[in-house]
Amino acid sequence: TKRVYLLNEGNKDMKMLLGGKGANLCEMAKLELPVPPAFIITTETCLEYFKEGTGDLPKALDYEVQLKALEDDTGKKFGDPTTPLLVSVRSGAPASMPGMMDTVLNLGLNDEIVQGIIDTTGNERFAYDTYRRFLNMYSDVVMEMDKEPFEEVIDKIKKKKGIKLDLEMEASDWKQVVAEFKNLNPNVPMDPREQLRGAILAVFRSWNNDRAIRYRSYNGIPDAWGTAVSVQAMAYGNMNDACGTGVAFSRNPSTGENKFFGEFLANAAGEDVVAGIRTPQPLEEMAQKWPEVYAELFKYQEQLEKYYGDMQDIEFTVENGRLYMLQCRNGKRTAKASVKIAVDMVKEGTLSAQEALLRIPANQMDFFLHPTLDPKAKKTLIGEGLPASPGAATGKIVFTPDDAEAMANLGQDVILVRKETTPEDIHGMKSAQGVLTALGGMTSHAAVVARGMGKCCVSGCTAAEVDVKTKTLTLGENKLKEHDVVTIDGSTGEVYLGTVDRRSAAEDEDFQAVLKWADDIRELKILTNADTPEQAATARGLGAQGIGLCRSEHMFFAPERISAMRAMIVSERKKERLEHLETMAAFQSEDISSILKEMDGLPVTMRLLDPPLHEFLPHSHEEMQSLADTVGKPLSVVKDRVAQLQEVNPMLGFRGCRLSVVYPEITEMQARAIASAAAANKKAGLDPKPEIMVPVVSTAKELRLIVPRIEAAVSDELRKANEELDIPIGTMMELPRACVTADEIVGTEGVEFMSFGTNDLTQSVWGFSRDDAIKFIGRYQEQVGICGEHGGEPKSVGFFHSLGFDYVSCSPFRVPIARISAGQAAA
Ligand code: ADP
Ligand code: MG
Ligand code: MG
Repeated sequence: TKRVYLLNEGNKDMKMLLGGKGANLCEMAKLELPVPPAFIITTETCLEYFKEGTGDLPKALDYEVQLKALEDDTGKKFGDPTTPLLVSVRSGAPASMPGMMDTVLNLGLNDEIVQGIIDTTGNERFAYDTYRRFLNMYSDVVMEMDKEPFEEVIDKIKKKKGIKLDLEMEASDWKQVVAEFKNLNPNVPMDPREQLRGAILAVFRSWNNDRAIRYRSYNGIPDAWGTAVSVQAMAYGNMNDACGTGVAFSRNPSTGENKFFGEFLANAAGEDVVAGIRTPQPLEEMAQKWPEVYAELFKYQEQLEKYYGDMQDIEFTVENGRLYMLQCRNGKRTAKASVKIAVDMVKEGTLSAQEALLRIPANQMDFFLHPTLDPKAKKTLIGEGLPASPGAATGKIVFTPDDAEAMANLGQDVILVRKETTPEDIHGMKSAQGVLTALGGMTSHAAVVARGMGKCCVSGCTAAEVDVKTKTLTLGENKLKEHDVVTIDGSTGEVYLGTVDRRSAAEDEDFQAVLKWADDIRELKILTNADTPEQAATARGLGAQGIGLCRSEHMFFAPERISAMRAMIVSERKKERLEHLETMAAFQSEDISSILKEMDGLPVTMRLLDPPLHEFLPHSHEEMQSLADTVGKPLSVVKDRVAQLQEVNPMLGFRGCRLSVVYPEITEMQARAIASAAAANKKAGLDPKPEIMVPVVSTAKELRLIVPRIEAAVSDELRKANEELDIPIGTMMELPRACVTADEIVGTEGVEFMSFGTNDLTQSVWGFSRDDAIKFIGRYQEQVGICGEHGGEPKSVGFFHSLGFDYVSCSPFRVPIARISAGQAAA
């Protein structure tokens, strides 16, 4: 097996073997872009390392030949003090996992070689700066030492000199830092080959660090892939003011605007830009400072974007006016940018509408349904940072990722406030509505990760003083404590005190264009779950083609209605029950009529009463007494009824069509209400299309009892109203027995359709309680992959499409996501 590849031996299609970074380095070299020479150790070798489990490099791995090739290419020698070759040792998985794994830079230095660099270049500051970077990174990444004592060394010297920036440190300062670093960790190996071995092992190990594992589980990346390791000659951005490093995007990753975009830092190296150490400068300033380098970079980004057919994220370093390309990949972008870029690329003729549709992360499209700040809202501006990831969010401020997670678990909206974020903050960012950082630019960790998650983020709010110890955020004269409310706008970078009114972004033209592509080719109909006229209107506005599930019981929870329902339930005789049902029929008919009106011309599936009756009854003494008073019965009657209906396991209890079997009059009332509402609308010149669905069926026999009663009640009501209407009757598959006897059930006389009710069906097939599974289902999702609300979940929609279903029905705000997913499934 070939374990080590030179750049001219690989290409962009070898991501599985060489990692995304390695494969793209090969491709850029092939395109004759200036890439420092490198060799790449395969992902298979990483797996071999884990399999052998010796903690040492796989026995068969040998990179001496390739290291020699690097030396020949650069005219430098690894470990040689006069012409030292320094390398970076970089991680790179088949799928992008930005910043999650480890990289060691400037490897190949020791005391003697540092002296050699000083003697040959005369640049003492550069030599010690590079050495301290190496000692720091090697101690951190390879030897897993705490970073803080190292940072304190630098802070102490800066404080003593009264300076703030790395740039202001002089050669003698870095020399002192190096000496103190060596005291902190005297054990960094001085043999460059030993360093190389250690760093490669550390990169292998970093595949299984906590944050990498967590990132993979969030993003569905298999644990079995492993990481490749790129060993690459260093380009130096920290030699002098004709050097620097930067990150660029071929289009704006936040807004999608087709404009070359990025940041750089002069006389800086490695991760200085992303780490948020200094606030970087926009590329426009690089165009002023180094016009030729800028022009060259501009040319490459254009070339790469065209070549890959997608927006590119580029890392580069400038060494003495020479540009080096260190990485390119398809750039992460916000939901908003993904839509704008897709639409623009279709307009530019780069992509077909179908290709562009497949680029849309359907799951993130709820961004467009989430609000942006209402321009007319009253607001108090208290701070300003960079517009790092668009959208607007309001929440209570918290200062640690753990606090964010804990509060979110309590159902609270929070804004995570940090000096800067690191990969250890991911779970907190995921839990928060938005992220606010004091440091860092548009390409900082916080910005990149927030954009990937579709979370709004304001970064680089430099006026913010964030104190994690006292949990306070100071912005000018505003001193905020933990749990004070702020609103942040990631599209403008603004921070406001308290809550600010927001509005939907659904009318976005580009978003509408994407929806149209999907609608043009999808075969699945997208219906919605809606119980009120308001929900129906919202869903229709978002493109729902009808209601797939209207839960009729939701019409009985309003105070004046629940008392009619309760009176009906505690009735002691049928006659009494019928009277109360009459009252209920009036409410129900009115509500159904409004819903049918909102969905006029589109199908509306009314589901008959589903929950167990005791869910409607009161349980406190006072409430029971008050019910007894209202219906004019002794308290004991109410109490007995409550006790009688109490269930140990209500989900499997007296509910759904079982109610219809025992109390046919309830079902008849509902059927009449539906028919009379439809008849009334028809009389008013509308086009009502109601359907009736019987829930929780387990056997065809239940339907043979119930369906004729519904038919009789409907036709009686229509006859009375003197209207003709077809009201199909169907049923819901939510029990395993119903599914395995589906042919018989659907074959029942009078049954015209069926629908899978995935919430109950999931619970009954798996034997999970949907109310309790939350306590353990997370572990399943991490390891197995189960979907939530299926109707609006992209993968499930794809599955339903492949099975040839007619429709899916989902909650109103999932409708656009379902439309796009159905389009993607058909593309
Ligand atoms: P990540 O996956 O976290 O982006 P990288 O391997 O890309 O890690 O390394 C991070 C940064 O280190 C790069 O963006 C670049 O600035 C710097 N770097 C890596 N290799 C080199 C090199 N050969 N020369 C100069 N800088 C390098
Ligand atoms: Mg990188
Ligand atoms: Mg159900």
